[in-house]
Amino acid sequence: MPFTPTRPLPYGRQFINEADVAAVVASLHGDYLTQGPAVAEFEQQFARYVGATYAVAVSNGTAALHLCALALDVQPGQRVITTPLTFAASANCVRYCGGEVHFADIDPATGLVDLAKVRALLEAHPKGYFTGLIPVDFAGLAVNLEQARQLADEFGLWIIEDSCHSPGGFFVDSKGQEQRCGNGRFAELAIFSFHPVKHIACGEGGMITTNDERLYRHLLRLRTHGITRDPADLVRDSDGGWYMEMQELGYNYRLPDLNCALGLSQLARAEEGLARRRQLAAQYDAAFAGLDGLTVLAPGRPGHAYHLYVVQVGDRKGLYDFLKTRQIFAQVHYIPVHRMPYYEGLGWCEGDFPVAETYYAHCLSIPLFPTLTDEEQGYVVACIREFLAK
Ligand SMILES: *Cc1c(COP(=O)(O)O)cnc(C)c1O
Repeated sequence: MPFTPTRPLPYGRQFINEADVAAVVASLHGDYLTQGPAVAEFEQQFARYVGATYAVAVSNGTAALHLCALALDVQPGQRVITTPLTFAASANCVRYCGGEVHFADIDPATGLVDLAKVRALLEAHPKGYFTGLIPVDFAGLAVNLEQARQLADEFGLWIIEDSCHSPGGFFVDSKGQEQRCGNGRFAELAIFSFHPVKHIACGEGGMITTNDERLYRHLLRLRTHGITRDPADLVRDSDGGWYMEMQELGYNYRLPDLNCALGLSQLARAEEGLARRRQLAAQYDAAFAGLDGLTVLAPGRPGHAYHLYVVQVGDRKGLYDFLKTRQIFAQVHYIPVHRMPYYEGLGWCEGDFPVAETYYAHCLSIPLFPTLTDEEQGYVVACIREFLAK
């Protein structure tokens, strides 16, 4: 009898074990629910994991992006380039600061922003026209930040790497060295999300990594209302032990101790989860090789962190609906950002980024998460084959 799964199969799901539960309970029994010892511990261990000097834990990935835009001093009217193939938050952070979002189309082979198109856009305007670049490590495949840095240096841009899909991912640089996403070697700042569907789950949560001490200290202040207590940073003389200064307009974007305790426990298993994602992806690659009517996005790339496993088919809606009847809940990543009504209201329209639009018309993210069993994966493959044979 063919295997049928005993649970619905979404495109992604968190993996919580008893060690995670115990870590959260221990935090609940501690003295600090908000700013306890797990916060700094999580920051230090996460910085080490990605190979960066500093890390700042924040309430979610969107808050991370907002603080990065503030720390880089995005001003009303400044122009920043990102990819249309991402979650809206990658672009929205520029809007929070009153900046203008511009897009460069994607490379259809990788789903990543096409750096040749970024260059063409930069060259079509005088130097200084654009101030920043926000590349996204889409689906878990790392952008070549060495090349992005060369462009950025040539045109005077800063870079925020949106690494929400790729903790543990890397690209190989021109010297053959592996460069981990968020290691701060090429981008001023990188951001991560700990939404349950991402690699590491905190409930909600986010992280900023950097190697720049000045940006790091500024981010700490912006995360807590713009307030500092650090004697080295005070602009006036202290009145006493309680003294602190609000020096600029900041926010409450802190990540509670509870969430950091969960994040620490999850981080301890991050490499294991990544290895399982890569194994499942290789198995999908093998199962789909040579299959008519289906293409796999960027199969077999080194350093891929596989947040998503993306296939492209002619009748995407047909496949999505068919899988749903089989309890397989695939998802579409993404409706291009420039096609969102909000961005269309700012002047973007259909046809502006045709590669991303064609990609969107055919893409589907199928189940990929560490606890997906080989049998469940075999069932997903069998259902897709059945649909394509119809
Ligand atoms: C998830 C995600 C974000 C936002 O993270 P949240 O923690 O949900 O705010 C930003 N960018 C990308 C590419 C994402 O996938």
